[in-house]
Amino acid sequence: MKRRGYMGKILMVDLEDGSIREETLPDEVYRRCLGGMGLGAHILYHRIPAGADPLGPDNMLGFLPGLLTGTGSLFTGRWMVVGKSPLTGGWGDANCGGTFSPEIKRCGYDGIFLRGISPTPVYLYVDDHTRELRDASVLWGMDTVETEIHLKANAKAAGKRPKVICIGPAGEQVSLISGIATDQGRLAARSGLGAVMGAKRLKAVVLSGQKRITAHNRVEMKRLSRICAKWVRFQPPFIPGPMTALVGALMRIMPAVITQDGLLYKILLKKWGTVSMNQLSPEMGDAPIQNWKGSSRDWGFRKSYSSHPGVFSRRETVKFHCYACPLGCGGICAMEGKYRHTHKPEYETVLSLGGLCLNQDVDSIFYLNELLNRAGMDTISVGHAVAFALECYEAGIISREDTGGLALTWGNSAAMVTLVEQMVRREGFGGVLADGVRQAVYRIGKGSEAFAVLAGGQEPAMHDSRNDPGFALHYSVEPTPGRHTLGAHLYYEMFQLWKVVRGVPKMPPMYFKGSKYRNPRRQAAIGAANSRFMTLVNCSGACMFGAFLGARRFRLFDWLNAATGWDLTPNDYMELAGDIHTLKQAFNVKHGIEPRDFKIGDRALGRPPQTEGANKGRSVEIEAMMTHYWEQFGWNPETGKPDPRVVEKMGHAA
Ligand code: SF4
Repeated sequence: MKRRGYMGKILMVDLEDGSIREETLPDEVYRRCLGGMGLGAHILYHRIPAGADPLGPDNMLGFLPGLLTGTGSLFTGRWMVVGKSPLTGGWGDANCGGTFSPEIKRCGYDGIFLRGISPTPVYLYVDDHTRELRDASVLWGMDTVETEIHLKANAKAAGKRPKVICIGPAGEQVSLISGIATDQGRLAARSGLGAVMGAKRLKAVVLSGQKRITAHNRVEMKRLSRICAKWVRFQPPFIPGPMTALVGALMRIMPAVITQDGLLYKILLKKWGTVSMNQLSPEMGDAPIQNWKGSSRDWGFRKSYSSHPGVFSRRETVKFHCYACPLGCGGICAMEGKYRHTHKPEYETVLSLGGLCLNQDVDSIFYLNELLNRAGMDTISVGHAVAFALECYEAGIISREDTGGLALTWGNSAAMVTLVEQMVRREGFGGVLADGVRQAVYRIGKGSEAFAVLAGGQEPAMHDSRNDPGFALHYSVEPTPGRHTLGAHLYYEMFQLWKVVRGVPKMPPMYFKGSKYRNPRRQAAIGAANSRFMTLVNCSGACMFGAFLGARRFRLFDWLNAATGWDLTPNDYMELAGDIHTLKQAFNVKHGIEPRDFKIGDRALGRPPQTEGANKGRSVEIEAMMTHYWEQFGWNPETGKPDPRVVEKMGHAA
């Protein structure tokens, strides 16, 4: 057996005729595409015909571990789902932690791909001896937690302890903002790929394998992981929860900032998880408030206090670590009421259902978090849809007559809960919002598009692009628009790539905030380096939070060499990542996307600029940044389209 980190095979499933077959991939494919997202892009670029309906039989879904998953590296247990997105009409992906990812490899595969539409609901079952589609009619209608419990109980009776991913009612109803769940409530939420799974009538994937995952140089893998683990263990005592707001306020006031070392964020994450940012972010201007029209003034310390980090640690009963993660930013929280416990809500969820809607009722956020995890619905998109409706109501575009009697006023948590329950069931006015903001605009009309904050059809995350123009860039130029997990100016500071990669922009120890808004060429170079590096992270199955430790502590490039036996430099890997990124952009062009159409809406760019709050007077010159960013990859600087000959030269021609 070759010791090389990957399994060398993928599984292809046709849901139409029920056929299941293995394909062996040459080493050359891994050399070009690595694994995870890169392998997904390679397969989907070739095999989804141009113009395929995202909800039709020709679309494909792929589930992939990372190249580094299971090899002894750390933070590398994330799995990825890829497909053509019904939200954007282009490349779609979402990734998720938990414990599912290594199981794909233990079953012997670097990816499981499905096409077609099953005539009846099914789930895919794979173990070392069996690969079959099984009847899922009894599961159809169950939520994600019930489904997982049911499938695991069945498998346990047969002596197996499988890992499960599944959709809930939102995916079954083909909600365009639905995702795919695992570990009873962790969601691969973005791009609307739960809808693709629902349209295929695929309820779940159940895996139970025992194959060995190899690495070329296990000793070196361990040495590198020890270096990383040492930095994760470093955890000095830290300030109490509400004091984080003070840090945010200081960051707002200071005209200059120290270039951030991700170790500080690691300390916050290890102590509280992502909710450590609940007060810090709004104070410093990082969190969009009141459907992006409000500011830090509208969500000040007193209002955000109800969701300060300590509130969440008090309810946390146990920490949750994804596979191979020494940090464990997750947790399980106790609740009262209909549900007994929930995965600790993430910062994105708290702010989408909190500050974005001016909702101070933290109990409603806990409840909606569990409700949406069980439904399999993206909390960021749901928060945006609700905030959009609240603003439409305020402007008189919709009335109580339209909402079935609901008074959709800012901060009305009871009305929000009812509305989201309706969205999950696709009932009443909730049905209007159940496919996200873009579809809601089509359904409501009457000038409601003025309140829609979107990038290419995707609701952006809870990081304000007026505060960090890097978010504006990545929301607008990535083949998966509107995503906060692909780059930002702040992320670049923490990745510290200039310490190991030649030719990328260096960060000074300190800089004036205003400099982020000038020199679009430099900002684009920073953005391009972010995109390349995050492509590598996503090909490896790695967690962005691990990467925040910095390139000398989170040894991604060295891990890749030690796992595979290759001898590539960081610059070689960055080059490869650029090709994979180009392939995803080519996928979009093949499917008729005009890259300029992904530009995020004016409100998120500070057009017009805000007149108060942390982002007062700020606006982002996005067009120049987009042009320079496209130049960085050799794409047409006017259109953002790669030359088809470049794709052909890379060996990816269809
Ligand atoms: S840091 Fe958090 S999200 Fe990342 S792998 Fe660890 S537990 Fe999972």
